[in-house]
Amino acid sequence: MALLITDECINCDVCEPECPNDAIYMGTEIYEIDPNKCTECVGHFDEPQCVQICPVECIPFNPAWRETQEELMAKYHRLTDGKTDKKAE
Ligand code: SF4
Ligand code: SF4
Repeated sequence: MALLITDECINCDVCEPECPNDAIYMGTEIYEIDPNKCTECVGHFDEPQCVQICPVECIPFNPAWRETQEELMAKYHRLTDGKTDKKAE
């Protein structure tokens, strides 16, 4: 499941550089998460890094993007294609 930034975001800028997949970007008013790039940090970390660091706890799961651990890992491999060992897929 990808994550989602709600309108409680205060644009503090701390989450964007923490995302290992470059999934977080500044939207029209607040930061947003590209669900095609968010793996819940699967493949990189045990916990979602943006959730760990957000001071206002405004990053819940995105119910429109339900994915299994296997699907998240497959997304991680797609995003890191060429940078990881293919046999690990
Ligand atoms: Fe990026 Fe991880 Fe947050 Fe998803 S959970 S937006 S991959 S930091
Ligand atoms: Fe918004 Fe939270 Fe990211 Fe700060 S850490 S920019 S409040 S989502």
